[in-house]
Amino acid sequence: MFNLIAGDSNARRGEIATPHGVFQTPAFMPVGTSGAVKALTSQDLEECGAGIILGNTYHLYLRPGTEIVKNQGGLASFNGWNKPTLTDSGGFQVFSLKDISKINDDGVEFQSHYDGSRHLFTPEKVMEIEHDIGADIIMAFDQCVPYPADNKLAAEGVRRTYDWAKRCKEQHQRLLEWRTGDIKPSLFGIVQGSVYPDLRTQSAEQIVSLDFPGNAIGGLSVGETKGEMEEMLAHTIQYLPEEKPRYFMGVGYPEDLLMAVSYGVDMFDCVLPTRNARTGCVFTSDGPLVYRNASYADDSRPLDPNCDCKVCQRYSRSYLRHMYNQSEITGMVLATYHSTYFFQNLMRQIRSAIQESRFAAFRTDFLEKYNSGESI
Ligand SMILES: [Zn+2]
Repeated sequence: MFNLIAGDSNARRGEIATPHGVFQTPAFMPVGTSGAVKALTSQDLEECGAGIILGNTYHLYLRPGTEIVKNQGGLASFNGWNKPTLTDSGGFQVFSLKDISKINDDGVEFQSHYDGSRHLFTPEKVMEIEHDIGADIIMAFDQCVPYPADNKLAAEGVRRTYDWAKRCKEQHQRLLEWRTGDIKPSLFGIVQGSVYPDLRTQSAEQIVSLDFPGNAIGGLSVGETKGEMEEMLAHTIQYLPEEKPRYFMGVGYPEDLLMAVSYGVDMFDCVLPTRNARTGCVFTSDGPLVYRNASYADDSRPLDPNCDCKVCQRYSRSYLRHMYNQSEITGMVLATYHSTYFFQNLMRQIRSAIQESRFAAFRTDFLEKYNSGESI
């Protein structure tokens, strides 16, 4: 499924074939929590250049329920995207409900944040749910420990993640055999280990031994420093096979994407561009712009003078700030569109730079301008 097209030092340019088509890597996946990337249509996402979007298993399982998504032809058909999708395992959400979740070796019992109803996620159950949702790439059910986690808790997370990955793989294979008419998703494994190099090594070796078609690095971008994040990424990625896609979960800021690509990461997801856009901050080529600030009340410049997205061609900071203050839906739509376009455009530029063997120079130039704050 993974075709490596070009390499530039450790950075890689490739493409991944799925039942819903091919997407280009390195890829940034906008997060469509309940089946929608908040404030955007599937057409907007296409215009912005997204190749794959992520759906959250926990949210889709609770509402509208996997039966409906399945009956509607799976996630990509349900939301009119009709292109590649990926679902997380729901683990990150149920573990973050720590006051109302009970964890043991079998799985996690948790209460719905909607109505308090009780549910049990086991590796087998999560595989059934993800097969029902029908994404092209599905993630194994893992235990993501919070940060900071002591060595004992982190080691327990690694042990359970391996045990559950084996159970996920077995159930996934059973489902592939039983459900012959369905879309055949690819199951990716997830490496845990918090910020402990020995645990990361152990987890990576265990997960890689299960021979998944892709491997993810989880449990980072959860509160550790940027230095710790880079150190753990650099340490872990050396154990992940080169011929398979590598997915760095929950990352990140533009500087993090560039850093991780330099180590050979192929896939990313993060709510950052869309969530921040809705709360008054967009990303620009001159750095983050808090467009809700009073200093932009009468500023006729676009959000990003260097951006060729349709929002920057037409609307001013002054207007965006006014929309924000009035809580107008239109403001959220416009700001989210720009930031999504900005991230997809960054990935396009990264892919071209790798292909043309000038990634390191691109990274330096981009960050120099990004950190200059010139038009901010
Ligand atoms: Zn723009």
